[in-house]
Amino acid sequence: MLWFKAVLTLAFLAVMVGIGVYSRKHSRSVDGFVLGGRNVGAWLTAFAFGTSYFSAVVFVGYAGQFGWKYGLSSTWIGIGNAVIGSFLAWVVLARRTRLMTQHLQSRTMPDFFGTRFDSEGLRIVASVIAFVFLIPYTAGVYMGISKLFELGFGSAVPYEFWAVLMATLTAGYVILGGYKATAINDFVQGIVMLVGISAVIALVIHHQGGLATAVDKLAAVAPNADDLAQRGKELYANFKPGDFASCFGPAKMSLLGVVVLTSLGTWGLPQMVGKFYSITDEKAIRRGTVISTIFAFVVAGGCYFLGGFGRLFVKTAFNSESGKFAFDSIIPQMLSGLPEALMALVMLLVLSASMSTLASLVLTSSSTMTLDIIFRDKISGFDEVPSGQIDDSVAARVERRKVVVMRVLIVFFIVISLMIALKPPHFIAQLMGISWGALAGAFLAPFLLALYWKGVTRAGVWACFAWGVGITVVNMLLGNPINPIDCGAIAMLGGFVVVPIVSLVSPRLPARALDKVFACYSDRREEPYRLEMKTCGYCAEGGYLDPFGIKIGELPMSKVYLFKEQSHKGRVIVACKLHVSEITALTSDERDAFFKDVDRVARAIHKLYSPEKVNYGAYGDTGHHLHFHLVPKYKDDDFEWGNVFAMNPKRKFLEESEYSEMVSAYRDAIGL
Ligand SMILES: [Zn+2]
Repeated sequence: MLWFKAVLTLAFLAVMVGIGVYSRKHSRSVDGFVLGGRNVGAWLTAFAFGTSYFSAVVFVGYAGQFGWKYGLSSTWIGIGNAVIGSFLAWVVLARRTRLMTQHLQSRTMPDFFGTRFDSEGLRIVASVIAFVFLIPYTAGVYMGISKLFELGFGSAVPYEFWAVLMATLTAGYVILGGYKATAINDFVQGIVMLVGISAVIALVIHHQGGLATAVDKLAAVAPNADDLAQRGKELYANFKPGDFASCFGPAKMSLLGVVVLTSLGTWGLPQMVGKFYSITDEKAIRRGTVISTIFAFVVAGGCYFLGGFGRLFVKTAFNSESGKFAFDSIIPQMLSGLPEALMALVMLLVLSASMSTLASLVLTSSSTMTLDIIFRDKISGFDEVPSGQIDDSVAARVERRKVVVMRVLIVFFIVISLMIALKPPHFIAQLMGISWGALAGAFLAPFLLALYWKGVTRAGVWACFAWGVGITVVNMLLGNPINPIDCGAIAMLGGFVVVPIVSLVSPRLPARALDKVFACYSDRREEPYRLEMKTCGYCAEGGYLDPFGIKIGELPMSKVYLFKEQSHKGRVIVACKLHVSEITALTSDERDAFFKDVDRVARAIHKLYSPEKVNYGAYGDTGHHLHFHLVPKYKDDDFEWGNVFAMNPKRKFLEESEYSEMVSAYRDAIGL
C-alpha cells in the first residue's frame, strides 16, 4: 500500500505544478505576479484566505493540544475562527483594505504603512519586521508535517525527503504562476481539506462506536496525574466530572483566551490581509465572506472537534523522557488506526494545508523584499531614461526585472526556511513560537485603525511596532514568563491602547493629505453626496437630464449621452457611473475602466464624423459628478476652431428625429 500513497501524493503534486504552468500568462507584470492582476473572484479569494489560515500547525499541533486541554469544548475555537477570524475579518477589513490599497497603489503591507503615513522609515522597518518573523513562521509549517509523514510512510521515506519535495514543488508553482497559481492551487487544496476532514471525523467517531457513545466515553474521563502534576492544577481547579464532554469545558476563561487569540491574530498577518488587496469587486467580497466562513467552520470546527476526542485514544500526552507534553503526537496517534486509503487522504490534507500556507508566506516575503526595499521607487535603471521623461518600453523592462528578482527571492526564502526546518537553530526555533504574536502585535492595531481613523499618527504606528515586537521578544528572552500564546494576545490587544494614546499626543498628519487618502471611500458614502445624487443629471436622469442630454447607453464604467447643443456635430458626454467629484476618488481599476470607455466613445466619434480633433473637457465646479465632454472640432466649420469650446453656446438644436438618428448611429459605432 505504500506505493498507492506514493502514487496518489505524486499525482497530487503534479496537478499543483500543472496549475503553475497554466497560470504563467498572468504572471508577467508585478501586479499580475503578486496580486493576480487584482482580479481574483470570490471563490478563489475565500479559499486562499482559508487555506493560508489553516496549516499543519492547526491540524496537528493546536487541535491536539487544545482538544487535550479542553475536551469537546475546544470546538469553540474552530467556531471562533469561523465567526471572528473569517466572517468578522471580512466584514471589517475586506472592503476598506481593497479600496484603500488600490487607491494608494500599494501592493504589500509595509508599502501600505509607507504610503498611508508618507514615511520611508515606516516602510523599511515594517518590511524588516515582516521578514524576520515570516521566515521562522515558514519553517514552522514544515515542522508540522513531520510527524504525520513518519506515520504514513514509516521510516521507508524519511521526513527530510518530504520536506524537500514539498519545498521544491511549492517553489515550482509559485515561481511559475505567482499569486494566480497560488490561488487556484489553494482552491484544489481547500477541496482536499474539506473532504479529508469530513471523512476523518466520520471514521474516528465510527471507530469509537458512534457519536453518542464517544461523547459518553469522553464524559467519563478526568484529568490524569500527569496533567495535574504539571500546569494542570490551575487549569483544572474547577473540574467537574463530565467536563471534557460539556458545552464550555473544564476551563472557560482559558478557552476564551485561545478563541480570541487564534481568531483575531489573522487580522494582522500580512499574508492574510494581502488576500483582500486583489479581490475583484464588492459583490465578490460579499460572496467571499460567506464562502470563507463556511470553509473555516468545516475545517477549523472539524479539526478541533476531532482533537476533542484525543483522550479516548491517548492515555497521557506527557512525555516523561523529554519532561514536556508532546501534544503534536496526539492527532497522529488518533489516526494510526485508520484504513490505508484514508491515511493517504489525511496526508494529502496536511500537505495541502501546509503547501498553501507556505506558498502564501514566500510570496508575501519576496514581494515585500523586492517592492519595498530593492526596487523602491525605481522606474528605470541608472541612466536608462533622461530624468523627467517617461519611456514605456523601459518601464515595462523594469517591471519584468522586478518579477525576475521576486522569483529568485522565492527560491532563496524557500531554501532558507527549508534549512531551518531540517535543522532548526535554537534561537530560530524560539522565534517560530512567537512569530505570529510579534507580527500581529506590531501590525494589527495600526493597520485596522489606519483604515478607519484619520487620527492615527506616525508616532502611533512607530509605538505599536516597538510594542508588538518588544513585548514578544523580551518575553522570549526572559524564558517565557508569560506563555507565548498569551503574550501574543497581550501584544495584539495592547496595540489598540498604544496606537490611540500615542496618536492623541503626537503631531497629526496634514489634513489635506488625509482627505485625499480617505477619498477612496468617504466620498461615496457621506450623506451630502447621497442627497446631491437625487438631483444629479447623471444619477437621477429623467427631468434632470432632459434639458441638455439624451441617453445613448451604458458602458462598463460609464454612461454615454448625446449633448443636445450640436454646434459641434457629434458632441457627447461620457459620465462616470459613480457619483464622485474627482478622478482621484476612483480606484486604479475604476479609473482604467473609465478611460477605456472614454477611448471607446472617442473612436466612435472619429468613425462617424471624422473631425480634425476631438476636444476633451472635464469641468464640474458646481455639479459634482465626474464626466467628460467629447467635442469634435472641424477646421472647415471654423466655429471655435483653435479655441476653447464653450460649455453651452445654445446656438444649434436639432429635430427629435435627427437626435434619434444620431443616437442609433452612436449605438452601432460604440457597439451597444
Ligand atoms: Zn451623479
